[in-house]
Amino acid sequence: MAAMTSSARPSSADTAGSGAAGARPLLNRRLTEFGTTIFAEMSALAVRTGSINLGQGFPDTDGPEEIREAAVRALRDGRGNQYPPGPGVPELRTAIAAHQQRRYGLSYDPDTEVLVTAGATEAIAASLLALLEPGDEVVALEPYYDSYAACIAMAGGRRVPVTLRPHHEEGARDAAFRLDLDELRAAVTDRTRLLLINTPHNPTGTVLTREELAAIAELAVERDLLVVTDEVYEHLVFDDAEHLPLACFPGMRERTVTIGSAGKTFSFTGWKVGWITAAPALVAAVRSAKQFLTYVASGPFQYAIAEALSLPDSYFSAFRADHRRKRDLLADGLRAAGFTVYQPQGTYFITTDIAPFGEKDAYAFCRALPDRCGVVAVPNSVFYDDPEAGRTQVRFAFCKKDAVLQEASDRLRRLAP
Ligand code: PMP
Ligand code: GLN
Repeated sequence: MAAMTSSARPSSADTAGSGAAGARPLLNRRLTEFGTTIFAEMSALAVRTGSINLGQGFPDTDGPEEIREAAVRALRDGRGNQYPPGPGVPELRTAIAAHQQRRYGLSYDPDTEVLVTAGATEAIAASLLALLEPGDEVVALEPYYDSYAACIAMAGGRRVPVTLRPHHEEGARDAAFRLDLDELRAAVTDRTRLLLINTPHNPTGTVLTREELAAIAELAVERDLLVVTDEVYEHLVFDDAEHLPLACFPGMRERTVTIGSAGKTFSFTGWKVGWITAAPALVAAVRSAKQFLTYVASGPFQYAIAEALSLPDSYFSAFRADHRRKRDLLADGLRAAGFTVYQPQGTYFITTDIAPFGEKDAYAFCRALPDRCGVVAVPNSVFYDDPEAGRTQVRFAFCKKDAVLQEASDRLRRLAP
């Protein structure tokens, strides 16, 4: 397995130093390849240079005022100021179950089939720590969200990437990243325990189609695999794309852990409210790990997110339309500036290629971008096992005010290839 950071980024092994016991490094071997997460690194760069931050994915506008008020009310009323129940407050578990039913016709018991977590990040960590034995293989879509690799490593698993690649459909203006189902099938071995799926996909914006999901489901059933599916961008799909939870497909409900996050859907990333829905045995397993990670988190915010999940459909459709407009605004700006744009059908990220500028190293490009034009982005090379595969890919986030996206586009034009 290639080290994700081997040539793209400095490893924290370089900086962790040695322990008191002498030559032995402080940081254990499972974590040395991961360094500092790219999101923290690039946000710090944005602050240091006063640049527009299109790197780390967080909105620059908070979510609905009434939901903020609901959090204040909960806090004032003394709801959630002490440890909430381990599985999450009943109001939120009920709202999560109702959301899955209302949107997707999936029925989950709030008491045994829903678990509230400290963001999707903890849901990912707890799922992998609970479900993997050392040496188990995890097939994950690449480029992958960075915590997947770190959590697989902490659980002692082996990641087996299946790479999404640009594909140009006839008649389409831009290429888009797609999954090769044959590669996915070929990646499964007798040691595979789990498929780690992410749709809509960060960073490429790929939304898996009904046919692709059906094929994944068939494979999981045929090879008797568990599936962890990160669907945090479920409400951010554009054009004719549709988000379909993998758990809806035949044979999947009993083997799938579905992950959601209020951070993405309601623009409160700092509240760290996430969840899983799954069959009772899976929820019980994930809870076993989760209880020793945070035990519980985000007390008053859980009550507010229960209200958010019950917002009318108009909230969700406006959220989607708003982000579609932002996507088009930034995509146009990036094209005009000379980037190759891979059109995203979901998420709030656009992956681009910097080859038209004669650039050969996304990481170096991103480090220099603030000085060149006052914008921060994220190099996709760090999301690959072999950084060579994403060597010229750069990701921009568009969950920002229109004026900010416009200003960033104007600044990026200074790069002119
Ligand atoms: N999964 C994906 C694909 C993400 O992009 C993110 C983050 N932003 C997360 C999980 C983590 O979500 P949270 O902030 O709820 O922990
Ligand atoms: N998911 C966000 C992104 O991809 C970042 C979250 C984080 O910083 N952990 O930009």
